[in-house]
Amino acid sequence: MGKRDYYEVLGVSKEATKEEIKKAYRKQALKYHPDKNPGDKKAEEHFKEAAEAYEVLSSDEKKARYDRFGHAGMGNSGGGFSGHTMTMDDIFSSFGDIFGDAFGGFGAFGGGGRRGKRVNKGTNLRVKVKLNLQEIASGCEKKIKVSKYNTCDTCGGTGAADSSSISDCSTCRGSGHVTRVTNTMLGQMQTTAVCPACGGEGKTITRKCTSCYGDGIVQKEEIIKINIPAGVGKGMQMTVNGKGNAPRRGGVNGDLLVVIDEEEHSDLIREGNDLIYNLFISIPDAVLGTHVEIPTVDNNVKIKIEPGTQPGRILRLRGKGLPEVNGYGRGDLLVNVNVWIPKSMSKEEIRTFEKFRDSKSFEPAPDKNDKGFFERMRGYFEG
Ligand SMILES: [Zn+2]
Ligand SMILES: [Zn+2]
Repeated sequence: MGKRDYYEVLGVSKEATKEEIKKAYRKQALKYHPDKNPGDKKAEEHFKEAAEAYEVLSSDEKKARYDRFGHAGMGNSGGGFSGHTMTMDDIFSSFGDIFGDAFGGFGAFGGGGRRGKRVNKGTNLRVKVKLNLQEIASGCEKKIKVSKYNTCDTCGGTGAADSSSISDCSTCRGSGHVTRVTNTMLGQMQTTAVCPACGGEGKTITRKCTSCYGDGIVQKEEIIKINIPAGVGKGMQMTVNGKGNAPRRGGVNGDLLVVIDEEEHSDLIREGNDLIYNLFISIPDAVLGTHVEIPTVDNNVKIKIEPGTQPGRILRLRGKGLPEVNGYGRGDLLVNVNVWIPKSMSKEEIRTFEKFRDSKSFEPAPDKNDKGFFERMRGYFEG
């Protein structure tokens, strides 16, 4: 039941160029087009699968997110999010870009009213949600207030004062579209255009609804509850289907797009699923060893600092980072040890340190077998 890899679906490599991806999709779309495979459910599934893969891989932003997070990054599993499911109409409406003018109304290809009237879709709404590290670590439910267009209750979205004030459009006789037959590379095709008289609605209204002035929609504030899965990151976008604006005079609601933003934590720095904590210890503690408390997302944990701990040493607390979004496993908490050098000391303290200046024990002797040594050399924490 898992989704197939998008690259596999289109049969291209991860290094494929935009043109190669487009070409591969074009091939799949032609092969599995419903008009070539009437009543074949399997072909329809392939057709939709290819369209979804193309939608992601043809967008730089979505492709980057997919490469990094896989299907989970598309916001289509778990956490109460329903994925962005493309309807056949979405697929056909994007065909103009794929097949170009040579194919004219390819989307309608012999369909001859098979899909009936054009389905209106409301516009999408986009909201930003700022989460703190605790919310990201455990996942959370957020209530978001949005101002959006809803279907008018008075007229049920028709925009008409009553049912007797709606009549079929005389130009298209209520179908919402006008058809014509053209000759193309693929043979004779029937192309369908939206009716210019009624804009595809198929209806004419004589008396308008007084609540919505004929629009069929009214603007309202609404609280929408969304479940955000654990492990999300800044810039990720999740789609809540059908929670966007209602379209004018009936149809399908747009989607609510939720963009994740992160609040900075006072002590912990996020690096993917890992967290970084900059620990400062005193010279005596570094020399003699000690125990210190380290903040994690949930609570404080006590860790041991071994005698002779070098500044720049990285202590890894396994599994104390953030969970993988919609997946398994957790990142680590990396404790970056710094040794604090005092900026002012008493005369007596200075005298004590002077005694150590010529001491053999205080001569630097970096241990090249220490893993942390190389991490420091590579500037792991720079930037
Ligand atoms: Zn109304
Ligand atoms: Zn019409």
